Amino acid sequence: MPSIPAETIEQIAAANDVVEVIGGYFPLKRAGTNFKALCPFHQEKTPSFTVSPQRQTFHCFGCGVGGSVFRFVMEYEHIDFPAAVRKLAARVNIPIVEERGASGDEDRQHEARRTLLRLHAEAAEWFQKNLLKEQFAASAREYLKKRGIPVGIAKNWQLGYAPDEWNAFGSWARGHGYETRILLASGLVKTKDDEEGVVSRQTSNIDHQTSYDRFRGRLMFPICNDVGEVIAFSGRLLQDDKEGAKYLNSPETPLFRKGKVLFGLHKTKRALIDANCAIVCEGQIDLISLFEAGIKNVVAPQGTAFTENQARVLKRYVNEVVLCFDADAAGQKAAERSLDALLQNDLIVRVAEMPPGQDPDSLIRRDGKEEFEKRIAGARNFFDYWIEREVAIVDLSSLGAKMELARKLADTVSRVHDSLMKSEVSNKISARLGIPTAEFERLVPKQSRSRLPEEESRRFEAAPAPRHDIAMLCLLALRDEGTREFLRQQKWREVLAQTPGTELLVRILESELRPDDAASLNAFMATLSPAEEGLVSSWVLQKVPGNATVVAEQWWMGLRQAALRRQLRVAESRMKLPGLSTGEVVNLQKQILDLQKELNELPKLSSATKIDN
Ligand SMILES: [Zn+2]
Repeated sequence: MPSIPAETIEQIAAANDVVEVIGGYFPLKRAGTNFKALCPFHQEKTPSFTVSPQRQTFHCFGCGVGGSVFRFVMEYEHIDFPAAVRKLAARVNIPIVEERGASGDEDRQHEARRTLLRLHAEAAEWFQKNLLKEQFAASAREYLKKRGIPVGIAKNWQLGYAPDEWNAFGSWARGHGYETRILLASGLVKTKDDEEGVVSRQTSNIDHQTSYDRFRGRLMFPICNDVGEVIAFSGRLLQDDKEGAKYLNSPETPLFRKGKVLFGLHKTKRALIDANCAIVCEGQIDLISLFEAGIKNVVAPQGTAFTENQARVLKRYVNEVVLCFDADAAGQKAAERSLDALLQNDLIVRVAEMPPGQDPDSLIRRDGKEEFEKRIAGARNFFDYWIEREVAIVDLSSLGAKMELARKLADTVSRVHDSLMKSEVSNKISARLGIPTAEFERLVPKQSRSRLPEEESRRFEAAPAPRHDIAMLCLLALRDEGTREFLRQQKWREVLAQTPGTELLVRILESELRPDDAASLNAFMATLSPAEEGLVSSWVLQKVPGNATVVAEQWWMGLRQAALRRQLRVAESRMKLPGLSTGEVVNLQKQILDLQKELNELPKLSSATKIDN
């Protein structure tokens, strides 16, 4: 298991405030002594994801996930324990001296990820240097000039240029020590028989003769993760009429999962939270122009429509989105395709129509920030916009046409997840069409929520909670120094060895955790399975009774009594076995007498904690 010393883990836990770490990924709202948010690990409408600043732990009462700051980073970033520890160590500049050799696989996996990140960071620099300095990037500089993007802004967003050659990036990267294997894994280089969008897994015998650059002759936009590390690229052609897709994105790689990343989020998230509203535009340049003009609560989906995952990410920051798509048919289509995901996540959707021939980029240049803000403020609710648009092209005096429209609108309404919003929209539509609301509602198909991909909907298998008495002892042994001392003075190993379901209690008593030290609690949790950690994180959020030690003593006596009784029963039934030697009988008799004596000497239990076993 962990090849990192326990003291280092504790030190890293102590230096990484769990509220700050989780708050760096998405906003947390204060709720009494704790913080709350919508759970990032399951879908929910009211926040049950709880972060405790005192205990330095998190727990979701909806899906059961919970634990230390390390667990959070592991689950959220999909990385293993050593990688989470390294990441948090780096966050607070704690050097890690590793005891090598324990888990070669994890090390290799982590190493590969780190190499990919370094490659992306260096590639971004190289692309940028091309754009700013190289002769062959003159047309790209010209393009930026034409689009009104000065050098300062290009630098801010690390824009770059990929030369229009087959092997320029590949040979540069090889010259900087990157193997072909890594280049292929990054998706920046591909092979001839590579299917578009899929990185070849057969990379063993590929030499650089058969591989070539994925991005050629394109303006390069680095795509960053939440914390601003470059994990992929989007490349734009300089001329729209040229052969090839206008935008080309990196394929799926170990770093980049399509449909999960929102362009620019690492820069815009603070503004999103403040505005509680996200302005959604199509292209990277739109986003950059709005941001640089001072409208900072902007996001751009990679690709044209929102995915379920992106909408879910967005819902953590805002309650409302304003879609700013082009007025052309393609823009409309994109807006409509985004709807499902947005409505299902209970985001209020408004639509800001761009005048014909304009996009957010051209519009803010033409009209300025204030005019643009007015346009956003005046953006209509999606359903108002939708009804008006449909009604404009349908003759409502024809019953057939009216019913057809009603059905079409009902279909859209069925995608709204929130029941209140749903009935409000139904009222609006039926009033506009002049049909009774009940009639219209009958047309709305009952739609089951679209299923999430397997991995996303996976629920945490919280370990089954032990019996109440054992759970109480676990809780008190985790939280109360007096209880720990008391229990550790008992013959706890002996008693617990005879009591089923006490494995976790044994681990708690074995550990050197200090109940009043959150870092030591985190370090202890790091030794548990995810299921056990989920359980422990729910316990540590519970109240400890004022008379903890007294309560613990009583539960403990109950366990001892049950264990003694069990031993007594075993001895008594052995006595009945045929063919015992005299010596054996004498021994058993003595054992029985001793057990009875011990039982009688136990302090009287109060009836509340007496355990029948
Ligand atoms: Zn949850």
